[in-house]
Amino acid sequence: MRSLLLAAGSVALAFSSAASAQNAEIDRVQALEDLRILSADDMDGRRTGTNGAHQARSYIRARMGEAGLRPSFRLYDQVFTYTPRRSEEELTGGNLVGFIEGANREGPVLVVTAHYDHLGNCGGQICNGADDNASGVAAMLTIADALGTTTPDHTIIFAALDAEENGLNGARALVANMPVDPDRVVLNINLDMLAINAENELPAAGAYHFPFLRAHIDAVDVAEPTHIIQGYDNAEWGPGGDWTYSSDHAAFHDAGIPWIYYGVDFHDHYHQPTDEFEVVQQDFFLSNTQTVFNAVVYFDENLATIAEELATQRAAESDVMIPHTDESGRFIKPGME
Ligand SMILES: [Zn+2]
Repeated sequence: MRSLLLAAGSVALAFSSAASAQNAEIDRVQALEDLRILSADDMDGRRTGTNGAHQARSYIRARMGEAGLRPSFRLYDQVFTYTPRRSEEELTGGNLVGFIEGANREGPVLVVTAHYDHLGNCGGQICNGADDNASGVAAMLTIADALGTTTPDHTIIFAALDAEENGLNGARALVANMPVDPDRVVLNINLDMLAINAENELPAAGAYHFPFLRAHIDAVDVAEPTHIIQGYDNAEWGPGGDWTYSSDHAAFHDAGIPWIYYGVDFHDHYHQPTDEFEVVQQDFFLSNTQTVFNAVVYFDENLATIAEELATQRAAESDVMIPHTDESGRFIKPGME
């Protein structure tokens, strides 16, 4: 099964790289400023539903406006209700969603996501969540800044998601109520934790499930000192090493939409009060931000190819999946037997 899919994914790839904007300079000063502000004490750990989260939302909304993103919802606000895990209480969350319209107005769409919520207070101390995930939001805003006044080949949606920490709720609300025809969405790039790793390693997960992505991920220009590792997306990576359901891309995964998750491995500051601006590796965060900017440019330029490769994989899966049902008649996805 997997070898069939791998073979299908490696056929005749002609990647576009002519006149690529991949190496356009990002605004490094503003990227660090966004990270510093979003992880400052007055954001109070950005717990969903709190004043700190409200403050973070106000800041992100203003920055989306400065970047020139058009609002997907009034004032970018996608308000949703959800019931957290181990609870019966209905809560309200708020995503912020904007977009840049591409030259191809009806074609495939790329969705960039980063969650802005975090844990609030942990044991009486503020959990600032500088790496998790002020870093991903700052990178996303930096990408939007660099692209917001251009016309990319394809429409790019930028979503700052809420309520990730208690169950990926903002991502599920976005996927359930996409601001474009959901059939047009062919790729999610999810950014969650881009700022701390002693070896300067940045995993890129997702190609196990969508093997045609592997060569594309390798084709993205990587800025120094970032080192990209593909993986962390299946059981071979050991206990805790399959990140398919570890962040917001899981909502896209469940909808059958390809995703690439850029995010560092666990570290000593993960979900601790010490995850604050002072411990961020600034050079690593900036090279990661440049790299994910390059990735968004690359995948926009190659999105028509991605859409074709996805259609090929889906056709191959529907051929082989007809007999692949369990006793209750439920489909078993390739690789999950
Ligand atoms: Zn996170």
